[in-house]
Amino acid sequence: MKASRDVVSSRPDLFTGALNVSRIRDDFPILKRKVHGKPLIYLDNAATAQKPQQVVDALVRFYSEYNSNIHRGVHLLSSEATEAFEEARAKVKRFVNAREISEIIFVRGATEAINLVAQSYGRQHVRAGDEIVISAMEHHSNIVPWQILCEEKGARLRVVPINDRGEFLMEEYEKLLNSRTRLVSVAHVSNALGSILPVAEIIDAAHRRNVPVLIDGAQAAPHMRLDVQLLDCDFYALSGHKLFGPTGVGILYGKWDLLDEMPPYQGGGDMISSVTFERTIYNTLPFKFEAGTPHIAGGIGLGAAIDYLNGVGLENIAAYEQELLGYATDSLSAIPRVRIIGTAREKASLVSFTVDGVHPHDIGTVLDQEGIAIRTGHHCAQPVMDRFRIPATARASFAFYNTREEIGALLRGVHKVIELFN
Ligand code: PLP
Repeated sequence: MKASRDVVSSRPDLFTGALNVSRIRDDFPILKRKVHGKPLIYLDNAATAQKPQQVVDALVRFYSEYNSNIHRGVHLLSSEATEAFEEARAKVKRFVNAREISEIIFVRGATEAINLVAQSYGRQHVRAGDEIVISAMEHHSNIVPWQILCEEKGARLRVVPINDRGEFLMEEYEKLLNSRTRLVSVAHVSNALGSILPVAEIIDAAHRRNVPVLIDGAQAAPHMRLDVQLLDCDFYALSGHKLFGPTGVGILYGKWDLLDEMPPYQGGGDMISSVTFERTIYNTLPFKFEAGTPHIAGGIGLGAAIDYLNGVGLENIAAYEQELLGYATDSLSAIPRVRIIGTAREKASLVSFTVDGVHPHDIGTVLDQEGIAIRTGHHCAQPVMDRFRIPATARASFAFYNTREEIGALLRGVHKVIELFN
């Protein structure tokens, strides 16, 4: 971290609790750019988060100083790259508090992590007539891989309903669990509604019936401290790019015993210990699931992002973002014609909303002209839109570098939308 961090901010509005947001913002070069002549206000963090200079520097250092393929090389560059990549794995292990480093598998993102489990664990264990349980607020990447599996196996997808606030209905879930249930796979945080699911209880209820649970943590990991051992989840998926790291890299955590028994997901280099035309012996964990050259720079960049997050402090981030969420929720809901979609009692820092009589894409376009980046659409969660009988929402999602001032600009932008579409 930069030495200038010791300087106390001259802007008290940006100094909140244990976070000095002004200094944090200096670490994110993109936040200095302008959009349509206005300062960028980036409120699309649930889609992808911005990267601190420390992550950019780690990528530049890798490519300019020790770019090399890993694991098989005897030369210095290869051992440096291998060491850095494996060190990043160790950082992830500590970040999620896994028991073993071999429980951390590098993948392309949360999507690939879920597909890996569906194609490997799922194909091994799911038979005709079996059931897989998901919730009604899943991202498409936690729906479609299970549909593909169910179609192939003649199995059935069961969906836990949500209430009008966008909360997971625990009682309905318990009713769906039965002797045919082979796996439960739910989001930790809904990307469309912001709801935090009661994952500890969900896992507990499934485990009482010996059913393993996958948690899709793509939207949770950037906002709260994770502890996969405490949660006792069987699999946990996350995306590096939502965690202030590079795109194209993510993590599947899995309990060692489960991973060890699962067949490989893809075949190729690195996932084998020996190959003849007659027989291939697979590599040990985690390499059994890492066929081919991985995203080496991405893994190292993700390690740098984790260092950065540890420096800021997940508890500080969570507390600050809850303040931003409260402010945005109260102020947006006070605006006539604005309806907030997703009012769960436990929420992460995003607000989905509609403005009566205005298509969300128009909201996004007007705000873009003000330099404000939000996301509009179905957020890859079309069943959620159907549940609320709307085609789309506008979604503002906050990170720890966002400020109350920026939310103030969002509010002015929404007022402008209402004036324009009166
Ligand atoms: N799960 C959730 C809840 C998400 O929000 C997303 C992305 O928005 C994903 C999974 C998929 O993540 P990725 O596209 O990084 O694989």
